[in-house]
Amino acid sequence: MPERIPARDLDAGALDALVLEEGGRPFHARELHLWLHARGLLDWNRATNLPKALRDRLSETLELRTLRLLEEEEARDGTLKFLLGLGDGEAIEAVLIPRGTRSTLCMSTQVGCPVGCIFCASGLEGVRRNLSRAEILEQFWIARERLGRPPDNIVVMGIGEPMANLRNLTEALDLLVSPKGAAYSARRITISTSGHPERIRRLASLGKPYELAVSLHAADPDLRRELVPTAKHDPEELVRAAAFHGRATGREPTFEIVLLADRNDRREDAEALCSLLRGLPCTVNLIPWNPVEVPGGDLRSPGDRRVERFRGWLERGGLKTTLRRHRGRDRDAACGQLRLRRPPAIRKK
Ligand code: SAH
Ligand code: SF4
Repeated sequence: MPERIPARDLDAGALDALVLEEGGRPFHARELHLWLHARGLLDWNRATNLPKALRDRLSETLELRTLRLLEEEEARDGTLKFLLGLGDGEAIEAVLIPRGTRSTLCMSTQVGCPVGCIFCASGLEGVRRNLSRAEILEQFWIARERLGRPPDNIVVMGIGEPMANLRNLTEALDLLVSPKGAAYSARRITISTSGHPERIRRLASLGKPYELAVSLHAADPDLRRELVPTAKHDPEELVRAAAFHGRATGREPTFEIVLLADRNDRREDAEALCSLLRGLPCTVNLIPWNPVEVPGGDLRSPGDRRVERFRGWLERGGLKTTLRRHRGRDRDAACGQLRLRRPPAIRKK
């Protein structure tokens, strides 16, 4: 059978043309668009308001599912982690994190990551490729199917650097927030990035109030380059781009700091952050490092007392802070680990 086209990769014009070619009518094309992008169709049999013969023909050309559930793990706190296989044998992760009655979906944007932060499992083997628009969107629809309702929030904090795949990501998110799509609120979507000030500005200029989180980790340029070795821009430039995003969208940026004992949790690190961020409406999100197996092996997670001490320094320096507790820690919850544990047959070279 010839290779099918992922349906959610087609733009509206191409979808219309295909439906007409297969003997459908323009209103069938409009209906199919709704099925794909508003109702998250994952099984042709559900689209009962399209003629069966048309569905059969479309299903020979169009692929509804580009992701295959390889593994699902539930942690004690209810965090659900999905290992999803891609058509070419690669695998990615998506995570559903419960909080009370609400839930947050954490989505991936790439297979691997080109940035190579020294504390992160996702970049250990570099990047293999970008996810397509369909592969990004499908993570949302699989989560919706699993939950029986849409997740309350989306964080683009899974495997990959979102700014390195900005086009597919924004196309996917635009379909989620479109009134003709899932009509999801842009304010409930957070995009986390480790860099690319020029792309942060481009994102800001799209006119959608997505939340921005910048993985800053340190205010001192040399220290930041130790933690994020491929970083091309100084922290100051990242902060300026985040400020621009804040002004353009009306949404205050967040700065994430993955805390590593004795590396970036010292008093001088807190003071440097306070002076870099002084006067900027923003929040600093402290994330004690979730230990993962990374080369070097000398990284340590700070204990609660150190974390609180660091938080105190920031607060007294005038910064607003939040603390992200580890979720699903008993189950390889830090992104990238589940994928790396797979045998190479699945992570085909
Ligand atoms: N590449 C993007 C988004 C994915 S990572 C970025 O770096 O922002 C999402 C967040 O998880 C980042 O803030 C990152 O620093 C953090 N992170 C990665 N590995 C971690 C680990 N082992 N423990 C705690 N946080 C981690
Ligand atoms: Fe990539 Fe983000 Fe991991 Fe850094 S923290 S390696 S940018 S996924």
